[in-house]
Amino acid sequence: MDVLSATVCVLCAFAANDARDSNERRAFTREAMNLIDGKAIAAKINTESRAAVAELKAAGHTPGLAVVLVGENPASQAYVRNKDRTCQELGMHSVKHELPATTTQTELIALVQRLNADPAIHAILVQSPPPAHIDERAVVEAIDPRKDVDGFHPVNVGKLALGDTDGFVPCTPLGCQRLLVEAGVETRGANVVVLGRSMIVGKPMALLLMNKGAGGDATVTVAHSRTRDLEAVCREADILIAAIGQPEFVKASFVKEGAVVIDVGINRVAAPEKPSGAKLVGDVAFSEVAPRCRAITPVPGGVGPMTIAMLMANTIASCRRWAAQT
Ligand code: NDP
Repeated sequence: MDVLSATVCVLCAFAANDARDSNERRAFTREAMNLIDGKAIAAKINTESRAAVAELKAAGHTPGLAVVLVGENPASQAYVRNKDRTCQELGMHSVKHELPATTTQTELIALVQRLNADPAIHAILVQSPPPAHIDERAVVEAIDPRKDVDGFHPVNVGKLALGDTDGFVPCTPLGCQRLLVEAGVETRGANVVVLGRSMIVGKPMALLLMNKGAGGDATVTVAHSRTRDLEAVCREADILIAAIGQPEFVKASFVKEGAVVIDVGINRVAAPEKPSGAKLVGDVAFSEVAPRCRAITPVPGGVGPMTIAMLMANTIASCRRWAAQT
C-alpha cells in the first residue's frame, strides 16, 4: 500500500467514527501528508441525511428537490443525473425537468413559479449554465428564496453577507467549510487565501470563512486574475482554497510548508494514457504540492462529492423549515 492509499484508509476510519474528539482529529491532520477524503466525508454526511429523511418522513414530510435542466450540455446532464440518483438513494422525493434548448425564458420562469407553489417541492435548482438566450439572473431571482437551496438568490447572498444563518449557502463553499471542520482544521485566526472570486465559489467561500463562529473567524484574502504577485499572496496562506478553473495552476512555490490546501477545480485535460483519452485534474498541481501540505483534497474525490452532499443537506433543512410552518 502506498502512502496515499494508507492515508485514505486512515481517513475513512476517521470519517466513520463520530465519537473521536477534536484533539484526536487535530492529531490526525498533523500527519506528514494527509489526504482529506471528500468521498468518505460525503458518505458520512449522506448517512446522517438518510436518517434525517427517515425521521421527517415518519412525521409526514418527504423532502422534495426539483432539478431543472435546459439544453443538452453533457456535463450538466451528468450532474443532474447524480443529484437525482443521490436524492433517491436518501429516500427523498426527486423531480427532474429536462427541457429543450429552445425553451424560452418566459417558459422557464413559468415552470419555476409552478415549483414555487408546489408543496411537495422544498428545493429548486436550475442547472447552470442555461443556454445563452436565457438571463440566468432573472431565473434565479424568480425562485422563492426559501426554496433556493443553491443559495444564489440575492436574499440568500445578503443573508450570508449579514451572517444570518437563516438563509441558504451555496453548496460548494459550504462543502469546503465542512471538509475543514471534519478534518479538524482550525479556521479561527487562520490566514486563508481564496483563489477565485466567483459568486458560486470564491465570494461565498470568503464570506463563510470570515463570518463569526465555528468554521469561520478566519482572516481572509480573496485573490483573482488581477491580483499582484499572486504566488507571494498564496504563500501567506495557512489554508489555501483554489477555485479558478485553471488545470494544475497552483504549484509548490505557491504553498507554504504545512499549509492546508482545498482544491475546488475540476478540469478535463487530455490523457493519451487513459482509454477515454482524458482525465480530471484540479487547479492544484497535486503531486508537487501534496508533499508540502499538512492536508490536501484530491481531484476527483475531494470537494466534488461534498457539493452534492451539501445540496441534500440544504434540501432537508428546507423541508424542516417548511414543516415547522405547517
Ligand atoms: P469562474 O470561471 O466563475 O471563476 C474563476 C475565478 O478564478 C475568477 O474569479 C477569475 O478571476 C479567477 N481566475 C481565473 N484564472 C485566474 C488566474 N490565472 N489567476 C488568478 N485568478 C484567476 O469559475 P467557478 O468559480 O465557477 O469555478 C472554479 C473552478 O471550480 C472550476 O474548475 C469549476 O469547474 C470548479 N467547480 C467545482 C465544483 C465542485 O463541485 N467541485 C463546483 C463549482 C465549480 P477574475 O474574476 O479576475 O476573472
